[in-house]
Amino acid sequence: MFLDNGVEFSLKVLINKEKNKVLFAEVDSDFAEVLLSFLTLPLGTIARVLKKHYGDKDATTPVNIGSLTTLYDGLSNLESINVQSPFRKSMLLYPVSSFEGECRKLKLDISDPLTVTYFSCPDWNCTHRWSKMAMRGDTTGTCVCGKMKNKSVCLDESETAVHGSGGVFTIKTTSFLISDDLRMVPNVAVGFVQTLRNLGITDTKGAELRNVTFGFNEVMDLLKASLMSRTPLTDLILNKTKVYDDFVRLKYDAGISFQEKEKSEATKKMNIRLVVKKSNNKLLFAQADDDFVDFLFSFLTIPLGGVECLLGSNTCLKSIDNLYKSIADFIDDKYWVSPSIKNRVMKPNLPKGYVSEGTILPLSEQVTLYYHRDMNQKKEWLSYSIGKKSGWVGEMVFSRGQENFVRGTKMYMVIDDLTVTPMCMTSTLSILKKMEIPLSDVKEVEVHVGLQEALSILKASLTSTSALTDGLKINSMLKKKPNHASAFIRRFAQLFN
Ligand SMILES: [Zn+2]
Repeated sequence: MFLDNGVEFSLKVLINKEKNKVLFAEVDSDFAEVLLSFLTLPLGTIARVLKKHYGDKDATTPVNIGSLTTLYDGLSNLESINVQSPFRKSMLLYPVSSFEGECRKLKLDISDPLTVTYFSCPDWNCTHRWSKMAMRGDTTGTCVCGKMKNKSVCLDESETAVHGSGGVFTIKTTSFLISDDLRMVPNVAVGFVQTLRNLGITDTKGAELRNVTFGFNEVMDLLKASLMSRTPLTDLILNKTKVYDDFVRLKYDAGISFQEKEKSEATKKMNIRLVVKKSNNKLLFAQADDDFVDFLFSFLTIPLGGVECLLGSNTCLKSIDNLYKSIADFIDDKYWVSPSIKNRVMKPNLPKGYVSEGTILPLSEQVTLYYHRDMNQKKEWLSYSIGKKSGWVGEMVFSRGQENFVRGTKMYMVIDDLTVTPMCMTSTLSILKKMEIPLSDVKEVEVHVGLQEALSILKASLTSTSALTDGLKINSMLKKKPNHASAFIRRFAQLFN
């Protein structure tokens, strides 16, 4: 059950009635922090919480975020034999954010984190009790010493309580103004005209003030709208009943500016084979090995702010771009609890153990959970910080050594919306048969995916349901490539004859 804790936020909204448009909303820091927390949500968490929230309400109009929802669904359907371990799979389906500790302190935490219990060896004298402690969801297991790992180690709840009057991300005393397209500025009286300009407002004629209350449902609507619309506040506040079906969906545009462009030559490349319908150059599916599939699944672990960072705040999610850019442009260090938290929101790390060994994306990790032990008091606990308490402290790592999420020598079929399935001849043939495509009209093209292409697929996955076609710019690429029959096609031909 989703945590709807009855929280309410009051927004003062300035509306231009004539144009039926929200100019801006004045919000307190509690609400501003919830909005900022959108940037801390891993893409897999976004897909999951939106599915969970809207999926039950109306199964006929599922909320699909670009190709991310289908990527997520494909993973959950993938037999566990294809992933390293059930634990690794759950790391992707329930990705941990490096802001989990912070988000728990928010007035409303929409990240819906798993309630976690960790288990250690019941023997205090066992030297393996810490190093072999069972991780999240991995409850069955025996310690190296032979005893069942059945002693639960709990999170120190005092750590998750909100501290005094301080905020989580921003200081409590500030209120903020949020424009229709999610630009956010501190609400300060000085520089009134400039403030409005920063929000993109040039005309306040005929504006009227309205008080609006947002609860959990409205915050979820705002998350969804921020990913689908350039005018999320107007959509929500002025057209409430239309919100579910009348979104102006953001279109994928191919323009991309890579922040780490210069590094791209140094990184590795992944090879995939595109199986294409010759007559119209349409992608049927791609064949890929574990490398590429691992890369695709890693999308689910990247927080939205991390995506913004990777793509130089030039995604097709314009409202999220605006929110992200506001941090650097408008919200000075003095409005943050600390400069370090501002930097972390802008360039978020993944929890330790979350970056695959062979990843092509420039991602970094940080420790987010600590294990504490006090032998004198025979106490052990977990916390989100190193803390000042005495005793021994260890770092929790979400994997056992660096490993990929997907294992093995298997080939996978990836369709355009990033649905991944294990590849086999019979399923492939039946797909071609179902599509009524003769083998003579099928060709195969090998493509190298380097950092540029990888970032481009990531960008396309946010808004496009044809993430491979758009991300790899397949249409323009195929015009240049000569046709050639491959071993794969020849093998098909043999099967048919
Ligand atoms: Zn033991």
